[in-house]
Amino acid sequence: MQFTATIGGKAASTGPDFAIFNPATGQQVGRAPNMGQMELDAAVSVAKTASLSWSAQSDESLASACAAVTAHIEAHSAELAEIITLEQGKPLNGLGSRWEMGGAAAWAGYTSSLSLPVKVLQDNEQGRVEQHRKPLGVVGSITPWNFPVMIAIWHIMPALRTGNTVVIKPSPLTPLSTLRLVQIMNEVLPPGVVNVVTGDDIAFNLGAAMSAHPDIRKIVFTGSCATGQKVMQSAASTMKRLTLEMGGNDAGIVLPDADPQAIAEGLFWGAFINNGQTCAAMKRLYVHDSIHDAVCDALVAYARNIPVGNGMEEASILGPIQNRMQFDKVARLVADAATRGRVLLGGAPGEGLFFPPTIIAGLRNGDALVDEEQFGPALPVIRYSDVDEAIRLANDSENGLGGSVWGTDISAAKAVAQRLACGSVWINKHGAIQPNAPFGGVKKSGLGVEFAEEGLAEYTDIQVIFS
Ligand code: NAD
Repeated sequence: MQFTATIGGKAASTGPDFAIFNPATGQQVGRAPNMGQMELDAAVSVAKTASLSWSAQSDESLASACAAVTAHIEAHSAELAEIITLEQGKPLNGLGSRWEMGGAAAWAGYTSSLSLPVKVLQDNEQGRVEQHRKPLGVVGSITPWNFPVMIAIWHIMPALRTGNTVVIKPSPLTPLSTLRLVQIMNEVLPPGVVNVVTGDDIAFNLGAAMSAHPDIRKIVFTGSCATGQKVMQSAASTMKRLTLEMGGNDAGIVLPDADPQAIAEGLFWGAFINNGQTCAAMKRLYVHDSIHDAVCDALVAYARNIPVGNGMEEASILGPIQNRMQFDKVARLVADAATRGRVLLGGAPGEGLFFPPTIIAGLRNGDALVDEEQFGPALPVIRYSDVDEAIRLANDSENGLGGSVWGTDISAAKAVAQRLACGSVWINKHGAIQPNAPFGGVKKSGLGVEFAEEGLAEYTDIQVIFS
C-alpha cells in the first residue's frame, strides 16, 4: 500500500518515504511520505487560506458538510478497517478494527449534530450581552498508534464542525489509515480544509515543528505524557490553545459485594481491550480480600479462552503488540512482576510481537507493573482488605484518566467513585467512553476534554458582544 499525502485537496508530490510493517508478520505493508518543514509549511498555508471561506459558512452548512463526511467515511469503513489491521495489528473481528470504524462513524455523526449556539447572558434595560463562539483558524492534530482512525476522527470532526481547518500528523507507526482517511474526506470537502503530513520522526520531528508553528492556532494531541509536556512547552511562545489527552494508569476497585462470575468478562475487556494498548484501559486491579481468589479464578477462566493471532484471520480476537518498543516495555514489566507476584496466566513473551494475556497477582503499589503504564496485555492484581486503603492506593498515581468500581450496591459503588481522582469513573465496566460525555484526564493525564459540547467548545475562542 502506498498512499500519497493530501495537501490543498491534491496529492502532495512524492519525495523520500519510509516503510510501515505489519506487527503480526513483520512484513512491510506499505510506505508513507517522509516529509519535513517545507511540506508542513505548505499544508499550514493552504489550511490557513481555506479557513477564510470555511469559517465564513453558516452553522447549518458546516453541520451538513460534516454529515456528508460522516456518510462518506461509513461507506469506506471496510476498506479502512483492513488498513488499520494491517498496520496496527488489531483484529478485524471482536473489539478490533471494524469496531474502531463503528466508533469513528458514531463519533463523526454525533459531533456533526452538535452546535454551540449564541448564549444570551443578559438582556434587560442595562443592555444585551451575547456570548459567541468563534473558530480559531488552523488546528494541528497529532495522533498515536493505538486507535489511528478513531482518534483522528475525535480530533478532526469537532475542528471542522466549529469552522476550523486541519493539518493532521499520524504516528509514524500507523500513518497509512490516516493518509487514506484524509483522501476520502477530501472527496467531499473543499480543498485545504483537511490536510495530512507524515514523517518517520527520525529525519525530522513534524510534531515538534507543528507545536511551534506560528500559523497553527491550536494543537490537539493524543499520546504519551512525556511528549504532551514537550508540546505544551513549545506551544507557549505562540500561545496556542491545547487539548492534551495523555497516558493513564487507571485503577479498578472490586468491592466485597461484587459477584466474581458476573464481572469477569467486564474486567477482562476493561483491561485487555486493544491488547491493553488503550489510554483508558484498566491497568491495575484492586480486589477485596474476601473475594480475591474467586475474582482471579473467574478472570483467568474467561481470559484463557480468548484467541490471539493474526488480525486478518476472523478467528483472532486479540492481535500482537503494535511495536517493538512497547513489546520490550511489557516484557520488562512482566519479567519483574513475575519475581514479585504469582503469575496466574501468560507471563512469557510469544513469537514475534505476540504476548499472551497475562495476569499476575500478589503485587502491590511500588512494583513497576503497578506504578508504570504498561500499555499492553498484562494486568497486575493487588489484594486489599480496607476500602479506604484501596482508594488511597488507587489515587497514589501521577495520572488520573479513568477508574472503575465493581459491586452490587450501586450507590455504595458511586460513593467510592466520587473519591477517585480521575476524569471518568465507570461502575461495573471500564473505559466505556461515549460521544455525548466529556472525556479528559486530571493530574498528568491531560489538559482539557474531548467530546460533547464541552469538547467542541475547545475548538473555539469566546467573543462577548455587549450592546
Ligand atoms: P507518543 O507520545 O510517543 O506519540 C504520539 C504522537 O506524538 C505521535 O504522532 C508522534 O509522532 C508525535 N510526537 C513525537 N515527538 C513529538 C514532539 N516532540 N512534539 C510533538 N509530537 C511529537 O505516544 P504513542 O506511543 O504514539 O502512544 C502511546 C501513549 O499515548 C500512551 O501513553 C497512551 O496512554 C497515550 N494515549 C492516550 C490517549 C488518551 O486519550 N488519553 C489515547 C491514546 C493513547
